[in-house]
Amino acid sequence: MDIILLGPPGAGKGTQAHRLMEHHGMRQLSTGDMLRAAVKAGTPVGIKAKAIMDAGELVSDEIVSELIDAELTAMGPDTGAIFDGYPRTEKQAEILDGLLAKHGRSLDHVIELDVDEDALVARITGRYTCANCGEGYHDTFKQPEVEGVCDKCGSTEFKRRPDDNEETVRHRMQVYRSETAPILPGYEARGIVSRVDGMAAIGDVTHAIDAILG
Ligand code: ADP
Ligand code: ADP
Ligand code: ZN
Repeated sequence: MDIILLGPPGAGKGTQAHRLMEHHGMRQLSTGDMLRAAVKAGTPVGIKAKAIMDAGELVSDEIVSELIDAELTAMGPDTGAIFDGYPRTEKQAEILDGLLAKHGRSLDHVIELDVDEDALVARITGRYTCANCGEGYHDTFKQPEVEGVCDKCGSTEFKRRPDDNEETVRHRMQVYRSETAPILPGYEARGIVSRVDGMAAIGDVTHAIDAILG
């Protein structure tokens, strides 16, 4: 089963993707995570992407699609893919159709996380992750069970993203509205879009997604 998690920055895509990986053995394909890894490694893609990401703009359709293609090539055909943060433009949606066909896969669900934009700013500015395993946390909504210690791996190192500040977030939301939201009607026409209340508690959102996946 292949699905897209769709929603503006802070909607909870990464949080839910991690839970789906644990519960369903699916694999998260996050272009944001791939790009951050490239920035950290100082690869040519990373060097090109850094300033674009810091400004909250979109990296080129070709670059992110190549990252996805490489992951799909490395992945077994029986492992379900969770596309997180991709596709983000109409061009990427078109490229994804081609990539899925090339890899003998098809899209089962597009799950839209429906959220309130003002709440998203609070979510993003309070977001941090485990520096070791990437588990997501939040200053108010999801603290580790033991303060300063990752629930998943025990690490005491955490990090925050340079683009998770209010100004950049507002711009990223605008980009979402103008570039990404327009991909929805195409999927709606295929009858594969489901909406989930992304403002519900993290566990309730997971239950709603599980119900869609069946
Ligand atoms: P996205 O991947 O869509 O940008 P994240 O999954 O990183 O979003 O979530 C953004 C922040 O909000 C994180 O700090 C996360 O812990 C928190 N969060 C995610 N889902 C919820 C929720 N349903 N309620 C409250 N906080 C949430
Ligand atoms: P969020 O879910 O919080 O918006 P992501 O981690 O998905 O953040 O993306 C972070 C940044 O990486 C984006 O603002 C953009 O610059 C870049 N990026 C990630 N995915 C894509 C994509 N599919 N197309 C273009 N740029 C992308
Ligand atoms: Zn951890």
